[in-house]
Amino acid sequence: MELEFLYEKTLQGAVNAKKRKQEQYRKIVAHLYYHGAASIAEIVKSSKISQPLVASLVDDLLGFGVVLESGIGESVGGRRPNLFCLNPEYQYVVGIDITLHSLSLALFDMNNQLVYREEYKEFDLENTSNCTQIIVEKVKIALETRNIKPEKVLAAGFSIPGLVDAEHGLSHTHLSFTELGLGAYLGSQFGFPVLLDNDARTMALGEKAFGKAKDKKNVLCLNLSNGIGLGMILNGELYSGKNGFAGEFGHILIDPDGKLCSCGKIGCLETLTSGKILVQKIKDAIDEGQASFLASYKKEGKRIDLRAVVAAILAGDQFAIDQLNQMCEYLGKGLVTLLHLLNPEMIIIGGKLAHAGKFIINPVTMWMNKYAMDRISSEMELVSSDLLDDAALMGTMASVMKKVLSNRLE
Ligand SMILES: [Zn+2]
Repeated sequence: MELEFLYEKTLQGAVNAKKRKQEQYRKIVAHLYYHGAASIAEIVKSSKISQPLVASLVDDLLGFGVVLESGIGESVGGRRPNLFCLNPEYQYVVGIDITLHSLSLALFDMNNQLVYREEYKEFDLENTSNCTQIIVEKVKIALETRNIKPEKVLAAGFSIPGLVDAEHGLSHTHLSFTELGLGAYLGSQFGFPVLLDNDARTMALGEKAFGKAKDKKNVLCLNLSNGIGLGMILNGELYSGKNGFAGEFGHILIDPDGKLCSCGKIGCLETLTSGKILVQKIKDAIDEGQASFLASYKKEGKRIDLRAVVAAILAGDQFAIDQLNQMCEYLGKGLVTLLHLLNPEMIIIGGKLAHAGKFIINPVTMWMNKYAMDRISSEMELVSSDLLDDAALMGTMASVMKKVLSNRLE
């Protein structure tokens, strides 16, 4: 009995030692991913692992092909140190960004560099297995184009609108028909893990890792496209709420006597201010003879969509600019509620309407100045995204690496 107990204990000791070593490898890889090329001394300082052990672990990582030597660093007294970096081609991350009418794909190497980017504008998001199959095929084409085998893919990040339970890989609004759940189903098709999240939250992660929210702790990221999404970075972390549904800002009640919303409720913010409403108002006015650049679209049989409306605004179309200004009052009021509740240091406007730049930032700023308490609003910056249409794709990369490097994929 005693022997058995000792045997189990020793075995457990071996398991623990293996785990500890994996954790140490992870720390080194995380340092190189987040800080770029580094010397052994720099890794020792950040990882708090001893110098001889770091040297031995880096040797192992060189042997596995995870790490490469990347030249000689600056001397800090004594010999100039060897530098090490991640091997960019060791593994890849697939980024998938779906909107109601587009599918964007990206492949990233371990240096966050895009090695493949494709956008399919003819894609329509439908709750059918056929639609899922299109996504699977396009990802396979992307991998074949770059000659990357599925085993070389660390994971895919998948950005999708609607209610998403990222923890369990479930999409409740779109592509919700599989019994396995969308994340597990796609994972079984691809042969690598798939991490789902809502589009606004993925964009917020993109902004935090690569955009204007970098080095900031409290930032609200709006996805202003056909609807209104919100990703919240609070105390430096993405906030998801109990079930992962936090950020349904577009569905807060603004007008109890208002119009029916796509969610089934009446008078949500989205029914008063969203890309979809803006397009509809402009189309209705043009039908009634309103003068606008966009009236020629109708004559030529071209589709008046949000992209066309933003192009007209940027070209100085007075009617389209007026319509956007009017919509900004509701948006400003809604944002002031968030501002008073959360006291963010920055609000980033992303999504298709972010392309309107000053034409959206200026009126929203004006309305927020009117309704906000000055002490809370005066140090808050309202800006448009630099990442624009790439924010969600960049966010899928950030999301995958964050989970891998915090050991949460296993
Ligand atoms: Zn609603």
